[in-house]
Amino acid sequence: MKKVALITGGTRGIGKQIALTLAENGYDIAINYRKENEEVNNTRKEIEEKNAKCFLVQGDVSKFEDCERFIKEIIAEYGRIDVLVNNAGITRDMLLMRMKKEDFEDVINVNLVGTFNVTKNVIPYMMKAREGRIINIASVVGISGNAGQTNYSASKAGIIGFTKSLAKEVASRNILVNAVAPGFIETSMTDILKDEIKEEIAKMIPLKRMGKTQDVANVVKFLSSEDSSYITGQVINIDGGMLM
Ligand code: NDP
Repeated sequence: MKKVALITGGTRGIGKQIALTLAENGYDIAINYRKENEEVNNTRKEIEEKNAKCFLVQGDVSKFEDCERFIKEIIAEYGRIDVLVNNAGITRDMLLMRMKKEDFEDVINVNLVGTFNVTKNVIPYMMKAREGRIINIASVVGISGNAGQTNYSASKAGIIGFTKSLAKEVASRNILVNAVAPGFIETSMTDILKDEIKEEIAKMIPLKRMGKTQDVANVVKFLSSEDSSYITGQVINIDGGMLM
């Protein structure tokens, strides 16, 4: 029986590329999505073309009851979850002076509380199986901070602390918990930036380019594989050398 990977927010951007890459590498896939749209079914087709199963579950990761329900649906379908990728995330960028309380709370609730909600519902199955991999998508700004992103940076710094603490709690059960911290990756999240800003950003990066979703998916593939079986509690930057 194939191993199963669950990717939250996996119908576009980085999450979709991770799902396709793990499908190519022998996993059956479960994808959580929030809103029904054309991309959801397109993603399923693309994954099935890679000879993997794709099970789609709707749910808002910031709602605990949604996570409880969709994890049960995945277990009913596949009977296991071997790899969890906590990828779903949002931004509401704004200087603190102008940031509304809801902008702060929404970002923390999706990015950080969402990571808790999904992990909390998946971990009993991994404990029982006595193995598992959890890969949390953080961000370099969770380490460096960034003006205009107090909400987002706090959520990503929280994810890093969560990753290290959980890694210590579950290592004895052979569950490995790591985070990746992407820099600027070309997706709809960064498409909103003006071209001049993108050029300025590229100049600051030692490798002189923004990252591609595949750059992130490759590291997640490694952290899901046997090749990383002695790595836990780590944060791997994927940023072209921007933060050293
Ligand atoms: P996108 O905006 O392209 O995709 C985000 C995904 O998360 C979408 O599938 C979205 O679903 C889903 N999502 C958002 N809110 C929820 C929710 N409440 N419940 C379930 N799913 C949700 O972003 P990226 O692919 O760029 O980002 C993916 C991850 O990588 C995020 O955690 C982000 O913070 C992180 N990251 C991205 C960087 C970048 O430069 N792009 C840099 C560093 C980190 P829907 O389609 O329904 O909106």
